[in-house]
Parts: sequence; C-alpha cells; structure tokens
Amino acid sequence: MISEHQGTEPAMLDTLKAVFGFQCFRPNQESIIKSILNGQDVFAVMPTGGGKSLCYQLPAKILQGTTIVISPLISLMKDQVDAALETGISAAFMNSSLNAQEMADIYRMLKYNKIDLLYIAPERFAMPHFLETLKTVPISFFAIDEAHCVSEWGHDFRPDYLSLSVIPEMFPHVPVAAFTATATQRVQEDIIGKIGLRSPKIIRASFNRPNLFYRIKRKSKVDVQILEFLKGHRDEPGIVYRTTRDSVMDTAAFLVSKGIAALPYHAGLKGDERTRNQEAFNRDEASVIVATIAFGMGIDKSNIRFVIHADLPRNIESYYQETGRAGRDGAPAHCILFFSRGDIPKIRYFIDQITDEKERSISMEKLNQTVGFASHNVCRRKQLLKFFGEEYPSDNCGACDICSGSVEQIDVTTDAQIIMSAMSRTRQRFGAGYIIDIVTGADTKRIRDLQHNTVKTYGAGKHRDRKYWRFLVDELIAQGLIRQDGDRYPVLKLAQKGSEVLFGQDRVSALKREDAKRKPPLKGGEFDRYDEDLFEKLRLVRKNIAEEQQVPPYVIFSDKTLHDMCRSYPVSSADMKRISGVGDVKLERYGRYFMDEIRRHLSNNPRKITANTTR
Ligand code: ADP
Ligand code: ZN
Repeated sequence: MISEHQGTEPAMLDTLKAVFGFQCFRPNQESIIKSILNGQDVFAVMPTGGGKSLCYQLPAKILQGTTIVISPLISLMKDQVDAALETGISAAFMNSSLNAQEMADIYRMLKYNKIDLLYIAPERFAMPHFLETLKTVPISFFAIDEAHCVSEWGHDFRPDYLSLSVIPEMFPHVPVAAFTATATQRVQEDIIGKIGLRSPKIIRASFNRPNLFYRIKRKSKVDVQILEFLKGHRDEPGIVYRTTRDSVMDTAAFLVSKGIAALPYHAGLKGDERTRNQEAFNRDEASVIVATIAFGMGIDKSNIRFVIHADLPRNIESYYQETGRAGRDGAPAHCILFFSRGDIPKIRYFIDQITDEKERSISMEKLNQTVGFASHNVCRRKQLLKFFGEEYPSDNCGACDICSGSVEQIDVTTDAQIIMSAMSRTRQRFGAGYIIDIVTGADTKRIRDLQHNTVKTYGAGKHRDRKYWRFLVDELIAQGLIRQDGDRYPVLKLAQKGSEVLFGQDRVSALKREDAKRKPPLKGGEFDRYDEDLFEKLRLVRKNIAEEQQVPPYVIFSDKTLHDMCRSYPVSSADMKRISGVGDVKLERYGRYFMDEIRRHLSNNPRKITANTTR
C-alpha cells in the first residue's frame, strides 16, 4: 500500500479543493490523512467542529476500495450519507433499518467497488456471517467514529463497541483510524488497548474553539433574558439548556408565546414527539430547541449559532461538550451561561443523593470548579483550556466577555465595607437576605425586634436596589472575602481577606456588566461581518433546495459558506469556486441558484461589504 500512494500530497490538496471546496487543511487533518494513506493506524482526539469527517472522507475518495466507517448512531447515518453524496462521494449505510433487498443491493455495489464510504453500526461486528462477507470486499481502511464509546472510563460506554477488536485481528493489513472529541489520557489508553490499534499515530488537537464567544451573565428572570438575546438573533438556530423537564416546558412555552419558533426536548416526551422536534430543529423549521441534557448525542447540525445555559451546568466537561455543539461549521457562535448562585443548592441536592462517598465528593469538587469558572474574573477561554490541561498562550482571547471588555472593573470598596460592617456589627450570625435588609434600611418586624435599625450601617445602602446588593454579596463570596457557613440556613462570615478590606487595608473591585442594547448594523460586529440581508435571502434559497432534496439545509452549504458569499458576492463560477465549502459537485448542482440570488440582490442593493474586508 505504501508504494502505491507515495506522492499523495498533491493529490490530497487537489481533492481538498475540488471535492470539498476548501483551500487549506485545518490543524492536524493533514498529518492524520497522511498516516492513513501510509497505512498506519491513527488515534485522534479533535474537538467537535475540528473537522474529523474530512479526515476519513478525503482518503476514502483517494484510496482504492471501500472505507468502512463505524458510527454509533443509526439516526445520524442517513444525514452523514446524504452529506457525503451531496459532496460527490459515493456513500451508503448498513444498519437494521434496511430490508433484505436493500442489503443485497449494497453488497452488490461493494463487490463492484462502487462505494467509497460505507457507514456501519458497531453491533454488526459481532455477527460472524457479516464479517465473512466483509472479508471478500476490497477495504481501504476502517474509521471508528466516537471511539470513546469503547471505554468504560469514558462518558458514553457502549458494549457493542467492544466487538470492534475483531477488526485488527481479521484485517491485519488494513489500517484503522479511531476518532473522538473527548478522551482524557486514561480513556485514550483504554481505547487504544480495547480496539487493539497497532502503534498508532496519536494526535491530540487543541481544545480551543476559536469561533465560540463565551459570555457569562448574571441570571435574573432568565426567560426574559433569553428573549432579549433572541431579539438580536432572529431565526438563528440555537439550543437552550435547562436542568429540569418542567423548566424546559415553561421556557419553551414562554418563547412560543413571544412568537419564537421554539420546541421542547426532554426524555419525558414521547419518542415520536422527541424525534419530530429534533427533526424540525435539524431542518431549520424550528429555530430554537429548549432541552435537558438528554438532547445532544446525535446532533450533527453544523449551523447552531448559539448555546444558552439557562441553569448552572453540573461540571465543566459537560459545559464544554454542550457549548461545543455550537459553530461546528467554523462560523462565529455564542455561548451564554446565565449564572446565579441560587442554582448551586439545586445541584447540591442531586449530589447529596449520590450514595457512593467518593463519587459524591468528586461531583462536589466538579461543582466547585464550575462555580469558580463562572465567578472568576479571568478569560473564560483560558479557564476552559486550563481545565483540559492546556495553556492558552495569549493574554487576550478577544472572544469572551472578559477579554472583549464588555465587562468593566469598578471599585466597590466602600459598598463592600457597608456589607461587611453590617455583618460584623450583627456578630456574623445572619444570612445574605437579612444583611441586605439592614443595609437597604428595610423596616421589618424582625429588624425592629432585634433592634438592628440602630446599627451604624442600617440604611447606608439605600441608594442602590436589593439586586445590586445581592450581586455584591455574590461577588464578595466569589472573591473569597466572605463565605457562607452552614447548609440549611447559611450565615455570612468574614474571611481574613475581607477583614483587611473592612479595615481599609485593601480594596475590592468587581465586574460591571454592560449589555449592548444597540444592535450592530452588520451581524457579529467586529467578530465577523457579513451582509445580513443577503444572508437571509441565501438561507431561503438553501432551505428550498434542502426541502426538495429532503436533506437538512446545512448539508447543502454550511452557514460559514453562506457567510463567505455574503462577504464577497460571487456571481461567476470562478468566484464561486473560491468560496470555502463550494466543491465541484455542489458548484455544478447549486451554484447558479445562489449566484442568481446574489445578482438580484446586487441589482437592488449596494454591496455592504467591500471585497477586501474579507478575512
Ligand atoms: P467534527 O466531526 O470534528 O465535529 P465535522 O467533520 O463535522 O467536525 O466538520 C465541521 C465543519 O468543518 C464542517 O462543516 C466541515 O465541512 C468543515 N471543515 C472540515 N474541514 C475543513 C477545512 N479544511 N476547511 C474548512 N472547513 C472545514
Ligand atoms: Zn478571553
């Protein structure tokens, strides 16, 4: 095999351009593909959206014989095959949904070498008859998708995956490439051992997702906050995650009542309703899906423009994975977490139910990490990457609320002293609510009874509302100046650092969050600019084609490809070919519909973006 494919580098680049319409490889794609072409086993961890499919689709197109892709989700196979077919790769799938005739057809095509890419469910590898047939087919290599499913240490173990170990045994000369988006070092070793990869080329890509913009906002009336965000992102597809089924239903109903095409998704819905809602979201018929974490596996939709966490996630891994579903196409996407310390006890409640003591303390630790992530005034990206053992090299990532300066540091020393003085003068025996009552000068029976209307700071904070003081208390807790003691009725206690502030030896600053009310004239602001009006038109063209072809819209062209068109206004085939994501087959099939629309748009509107502003 090696001699057959020497000098494949020009072929790789040509195929990348002609078939996929991309100008250059994403990080690691090239070395993975080279290893496959050289007949070496591969183990690759790449983040969601990193471009794993291309790593096996491209060699599948170049190599003789069929590439077998093992993929865990039958529900996804059809979309994956449709996407490959649209790109001009001959593809098919084999799973329990096919009847005998359809199976026979596929076997015949395999025999005549008519299929480049065959998707297969893992359970088939436990069937001796199937393996015997497979042995008679010319196979270029095996690609194992979602390879972490083979490990009990991973988060999504599937016993079916264990049977994949027959592959290296039965096909000793065929390379195997295993891919996953999440694997700690331990899971990685487990995967390599369980499948039996033979001295694989190991690739661990950065976990950084440069096109995701991370934002954490204080949560209050979260439904209204979500609606506010959606107003600036009309019709964009996105996910809202909520913790409970009830809150999923409530938020979905609220959004629908405000005219948003939102649908609920949780494990309590009937199977067919769940599938229908997911399908509608997948096909851009419903823009927003409000879901519990049951929604996720099996979401291949590449044009998700935002992921909102309306409640605190349980741990950073899930947060990373859930936000990772945004922006797979590489176009900018927003990740917003609405954070309130009020969510902490709810998660603690679940953790308290865990009977295994060790597991309980791990979960608790993970919760604390998440709270730290949400409350530290440190670049969100830096913190996330650090969690995965990666150092983010730059001081300013430019794409999180901290780095983009949409939050501003303000000195809150005096106000902090008001709070801490009230705590100190009531002997640190009361909770946040009561302390806030004192500083805002509330006239309650309890205050009168305890004669706390005579403390020096009673009413000293009248000029600000309770919400502000609540924020400040949270901030002081987050910064470790005060802490909450006691489980059922937590009281506020001064920490050493806090005393220093109280006695004027140190100062405190907090983040002031500025919510941009004004909508930028072009979507995305400085982050990424394109002609929004044209995008709306091209989206419609795409939707019509997708309906006709019965595939999800992103399979025709990704959002990123449309954005590119909305920056450079291609009206000739040559221009169109330069757009990222437009390969020969798609140009031939659909190019003219988009060019017609762009021409029409230009004859009625001036260019909003001049060509040289394109990145
Ligand atoms: P993953 O499976 O790793 O989550 P995908 O394979 O779905 O990621 O790829 C994500 C998106 O990136 C797809 O829209 C794909 O077309 C695009 N993509 C992949 N490779 C490239 C590349 N070299 N240049 C531009 N876009 C790419
Ligand atoms: Zn940052």
